[in-house]
Amino acid sequence: MSVVTSQSQVCVVVGAGHAGSALAVQLRKEGWAGRIVLIGEESHLPYHRPPLSKAVLAGEKTIDAILLRPQTHYAASGVELRLGERVVALNRSARTLQLSTGEELHYDFLALCTGTFPRHLPDAPALEGVFQLRTADDAVRIRAAAGVGRRAVIVGGGYIGLEVAAVLVSQGLQVTVLEAASRLLRRVASPVISAFFADLHARHGVKVLTSVAGVELLGDGHVTGVRETTGTVHAADLVIVGIGVLPETVLANKSGLEVENGIVVDEYARTSDPFIYAAGDCTLHPSARYGTRLRLESVQNALDQARVAAANICGKNVLYDALPWFWSDQFDTKLQSAGLLLDHEHHVVRGDVRNAEGKGFSVFYLRGDIMIAADCVNRAKEFITCKRLISERIRVNVAALVDEHCSVDDFAASEN
Ligand SMILES: Cc1cc2nc3c(=O)[nH]c(=O)nc-3n(C[C@H](O)[C@H](O)[C@H](O)COP(=O)(O)OP(=O)(O)OC[C@H]3O[C@@H](n4cnc5c(N)ncnc54)[C@H](O)[C@@H]3O)c2cc1C
Repeated sequence: MSVVTSQSQVCVVVGAGHAGSALAVQLRKEGWAGRIVLIGEESHLPYHRPPLSKAVLAGEKTIDAILLRPQTHYAASGVELRLGERVVALNRSARTLQLSTGEELHYDFLALCTGTFPRHLPDAPALEGVFQLRTADDAVRIRAAAGVGRRAVIVGGGYIGLEVAAVLVSQGLQVTVLEAASRLLRRVASPVISAFFADLHARHGVKVLTSVAGVELLGDGHVTGVRETTGTVHAADLVIVGIGVLPETVLANKSGLEVENGIVVDEYARTSDPFIYAAGDCTLHPSARYGTRLRLESVQNALDQARVAAANICGKNVLYDALPWFWSDQFDTKLQSAGLLLDHEHHVVRGDVRNAEGKGFSVFYLRGDIMIAADCVNRAKEFITCKRLISERIRVNVAALVDEHCSVDDFAASEN
């Protein structure tokens, strides 16, 4: 579809997170001549979400220090910011949005960047001292509740739960992690990485329990503990529930857009309505690279897909099929992961998994001599090389991967 952008046109972006902020600013760079309105229900200027479970929770950074862009940047790009306002309804035939203030807003093009929201424990009572971590305000609340010597129980051993555990135990709290699956990070990481983090946390004094099927919050007014179905009770002054997120699709659903596990978009980030695009955690997109549809929860996906959506709203024809990558910081380790563990045949390890805080290690996932994915712990240089090898499907020299005497320059097979 060819698009002529004129000064009278309006593009509204709903959701002022990583994707929404990037999309709004990129629209102008792509040549959008009309109004750009960025609406977000959080009252803060758009900020980096990853530090919430890291430097912000640790008290090392304030919200002002993690803004994605200064306010002046939006003004300079001609992006009108509407913060602290929620879009409550979408009328596709009239091309209007209704805001929580009651105001109605017309759009010519719309971008949905509504992200995700945390899953709740089923049937859990509303108790003080129980937290989830998605927003800057959540992080501030958890920090205020986390005093030295307090007992924190974290329900869920995914990346966010583990990052919170690392910060809280480092701050002198007694920390227990309860994970339902048989290993930590089961949904997102290989057994090698799960075992590494279980050991890392145990060595730092975190009590990690897996295969904890079903938990019940205890307390009257304020939480006092968490009871397993076996009857075991873990006393708690605070509980953080980190059991995953769900895509925020309510506007898309109610207005009849195609929605499955996320807002369905094509490879151009376009929804089932040609005037509506979507980007970030809320989308389900086709990946030619993996031959399947993906809903990713990462900054990489939010930013790369947002840029593609902005270009296509401006009439370009840009495909989205970027290599997924992710990172997590826990104690003194930085894990950087590239690619998805969807179709590898075997893996090899470079370095010493037990001595990772020193020299680090990497795990390479392979199909034949093609690298499919890599997890690099404290090995930034290997991560950068692997991103290229995976993305370009370059054949690798498996012997060189595991031989620490070989450098990253030897990773590619010489006959490439
Ligand atoms: C604590 C934490 C740590 C993380 N750490 C990492 C990490 O280390 N590495 C990594 O790659 N990723 C990490 N992530 C994931 C990463 O932050 C997300 O993938 C990314 O924020 C997705 O961006 P997004 O713009 O799609 O969604 P979001 O950042 O969730 O933004 C969506 C925004 O839309 C707003 N919104 C929703 N509906 C409406 C509406 N109807 N009206 C107005 N506004 C609306 C929401 O309030 C929200 O502000 C972390 C996430 C969390 C919570």
